[in-house]
Amino acid sequence: MSSSQNPLYFVLAYYHFTPISNPHQEVAAHKEFFKGRQITSRIYISEQGINGQMSGLQEDAEAYMRWMHANPLFKEMPFKIHSYHENVFPRQTVKYRPQLVALDEEVDLNDTGEHVSPERWKELMESDEKPLLLDVRNEYEWQVGRFEGAECPPCETFREFRAYTEELKNQVDPKTTPVMMYCTGGIRCELYSSLLLKGGFEKVYQLDGGVINYGLKQGSDHWLGKLFVFDDRLTVPISDQPTPVIGKCYHCEAPMEAYYNCANMDCNRLFLCCPACLKQFQGCCAQACQEAPRVRPYHQQDAHKPFRKWYHYFKNKEEVPS
Ligand SMILES: [Zn+2]
Ligand SMILES: [Zn+2]
Repeated sequence: MSSSQNPLYFVLAYYHFTPISNPHQEVAAHKEFFKGRQITSRIYISEQGINGQMSGLQEDAEAYMRWMHANPLFKEMPFKIHSYHENVFPRQTVKYRPQLVALDEEVDLNDTGEHVSPERWKELMESDEKPLLLDVRNEYEWQVGRFEGAECPPCETFREFRAYTEELKNQVDPKTTPVMMYCTGGIRCELYSSLLLKGGFEKVYQLDGGVINYGLKQGSDHWLGKLFVFDDRLTVPISDQPTPVIGKCYHCEAPMEAYYNCANMDCNRLFLCCPACLKQFQGCCAQACQEAPRVRPYHQQDAHKPFRKWYHYFKNKEEVPS
């Protein structure tokens, strides 16, 4: 007999910088704990700490959080929790990484921006101080959702962000201009904020726990659109409060929040697309891509779970999705 109620899944996002003397042992312990549980994950552990996302049945996710909090290394781990109707990651990944976030230069993790709570963040958004609001995620994340007035620096790498910091100093006074910085879950700001400080900016605030935490604690005030996430859900509302759609179809600019990756495997561009244009261009981002040699067949009826296919898209990129 099957239950009429669908099981509830939790999607957890968390990170913590703390010295871990034997990260391989923590990886092994995770794998052991996950045995026999239907958990999907993307968890990286290094000597510097842990960066994790996982999903599982509510009871398994709760057991995992209790298990983590019983470990002295992670006893104060803040978990951000969303609920969903199924698991959202392609597989179960728990891995050692020499660096928690791979970067092309050294970062001083002891000198990072000031963490501000979602509540304080909202006050700052409403203050007369006119802070510079920086979205340090990828441009395709910014396109579908962002804080009002947020700028997305055109940087693909950390090195480019340093160059951007230098340029920014020609436009604003780094000593007096406050900078508010945010990302999805907070980890990226730990790194990017330290670069701004190193570059001479004196007032650098980072949103504690990122947009996920803001939505959970503060709702959707000052937020537009959806939050891009690196899993099957692709985009999620940040709270129960409705927000205006700001994403636009790449082809016709109709308001749209659905992402696809170009069917041309040698392009793979991530783009927003409306159903009509998707059909017209057979899943491609441009006509040229339709005529390319390696194009995936277009199946409109397939449930779209792009991360199942383009997980590999990120594997060669410098950054861990954050
Ligand atoms: Zn369109
Ligand atoms: Zn393309």
